[in-house]
Amino acid sequence: MPELPEVEVTRCGIAPALVGRRLASADFRVPALRYPLPHAERPAFVGRQLQSIQRRGKYLLLDFGNGHLLVHLGMSGSLRLLTADMAAQKHDHVDLVFGADHDKIILRLRDPRRFGALLWLPGEPWAHPLLKTLGIEPLTEDFDAEWLKRTLAGLKAAIKPTLMDSHRIVGIGNIYASESLFRAGIDPRAAAGKISLNRLARLVAEIKATLTAAIAAGGSSLRDFIHSDGSSGYFQQQYFVYGRSGEPCRRCGKPIRELRQGQRATFFCAHCQR
Ligand SMILES: [Zn+2]
Repeated sequence: MPELPEVEVTRCGIAPALVGRRLASADFRVPALRYPLPHAERPAFVGRQLQSIQRRGKYLLLDFGNGHLLVHLGMSGSLRLLTADMAAQKHDHVDLVFGADHDKIILRLRDPRRFGALLWLPGEPWAHPLLKTLGIEPLTEDFDAEWLKRTLAGLKAAIKPTLMDSHRIVGIGNIYASESLFRAGIDPRAAAGKISLNRLARLVAEIKATLTAAIAAGGSSLRDFIHSDGSSGYFQQQYFVYGRSGEPCRRCGKPIRELRQGQRATFFCAHCQR
């Protein structure tokens, strides 16, 4: 599933090629992904120049001056750039064609499971129901130990699912929650409201470091967004705990344990995380 780093790498990969170009056409090959595609709204954005591409949580916002196209990659979506016509494959549901015929560039959305979204938000986007309840961005300065301590005060719920609640903090998915808690030495089952300010400071630093490292790792594959043969441009990393149930901890050698929290698998080292 694309997580915050993959979405940010995607943004950095596509923005330089597209910003400043005029959207020549929007081709939708299905009626809907997770929500209906904006077939009828096309006259509002086709023909307009793309001003910028922003990211909020795992949403991309393509700013056309009079409104935004909101893109979410869902469970299995990916975006790539094509500089020449290339037949759409089975799961290539959307083409946004930028520029003139002799100099066009196509942003193609592939989404096999169709949990992704593409919506037209006229005017200011931030009041939209999908955006207005989003929590803090973890890579901003506002996200620090004091903020986290205030936010978690009195909470008896376990820290790991709390970190993954996008109404509090956006973009910390299962992989990055598990990895950050390992790196901070915090048991994923610990009561969120009882963790000391010092330990939260370590956790905040490790969350930022984990996400930043993942974005940097994606940096080397930016070229995959151009002339791609279908590979997504995402990347595999070496994890400390995620997906390593039963394998030896990279720090202490004891086996990594797995448990369920909510509906999600949690991976941790009972020796290194207290
Ligand atoms: Zn360990």
